[in-house]
Amino acid sequence: MTGINLPSGIPWQARLKDLTDTVLNFVFPPVCVNCKKPGALLCADCLAGVPWLERPICSHCGRVVNRPMARCPGCLRHPLRSIEQVRAAVLFAGDVPDMIHQLKYNGHFALAEPLGDLMATAWPRWEMPTDMIVGVPLHPDRQKKRGYNQSDLLAAHFGRRVGLSADRRALQRVRNTPPQVGLNAADRQTNMTNAFFAERDKVAGKDILLVDDVCTTGSTLQAAAQALLDAGARRVSGYCLARAM
Ligand SMILES: [Zn+2]
Ligand SMILES: [Zn+2]
Repeated sequence: MTGINLPSGIPWQARLKDLTDTVLNFVFPPVCVNCKKPGALLCADCLAGVPWLERPICSHCGRVVNRPMARCPGCLRHPLRSIEQVRAAVLFAGDVPDMIHQLKYNGHFALAEPLGDLMATAWPRWEMPTDMIVGVPLHPDRQKKRGYNQSDLLAAHFGRRVGLSADRRALQRVRNTPPQVGLNAADRQTNMTNAFFAERDKVAGKDILLVDDVCTTGSTLQAAAQALLDAGARRVSGYCLARAM
C-alpha cells in the first residue's frame, strides 16, 4: 500500500538505518581497511583469509597445543582460577592484529560488525553455557578518550547474531590499570587485581560469557570473572575474537 516493498517483521529503526547505510555506501563507498579494495570495510577475500582457531587446544585456556590436554603448562603455572574455559574465534596472526588495531585505535568501530560475525561463525564449534554476555569494560577515562568500547560492540553484534543478550551495565572497570603490554603472566595478574566491580542484581545465579577482543594470558578475563563470581555469578567463561599465542 505504501509503494515501498520492504520485508515485514523488521522494526522501522532498523529499516531506516539500512536505508541510510545504503545511501551512504553509494555516496562514500567503503574501502577495505586491510587491502584498500573498495566495496566493504573488510572485503570477502580478507575475511576468508583469517586463521581460524582449530583443535588441538588446551581445554581450559584455549591455547593451541600439539595434542589435546586438560591443562597446558601455561595453565599449570598461572591457573585462571575463576574461569571455566576460554575460547576464541581466530588466531592473533596474519592480518588479524592489524584488523583489531584498526577497530581499537583508528576509530573504525564499524569493524565490530564483520569481526563479530567471525565470532558468530566460530561459535557452534566452541558453544559454552550462557545466560548473558558481558563485554570486558574499559575504564570510563579510557572509554571517553576512545569514544567507544570495542569489546561491548563485539559482544552486542556477536550476541545479536547468535541470539544471546548482552548487558553493558553488569560489570564496571573501577581501576584504571596501566597497559598490560610488556608484562609477564604473573605481573599481568597483579596489575589487574580488583580492577572490576560487578552488579549483584544483574549477575547473581547466571552463567556469564565474557567477551573481549584479544586474549593473551587471560589475566584480564580472570580478574573480570573473579568480580562476577564475587557478585554471585554461577559460572564464567571467556570468548575472544582472537587468541594470542
Ligand atoms: Zn580486503
Ligand atoms: Zn591452558
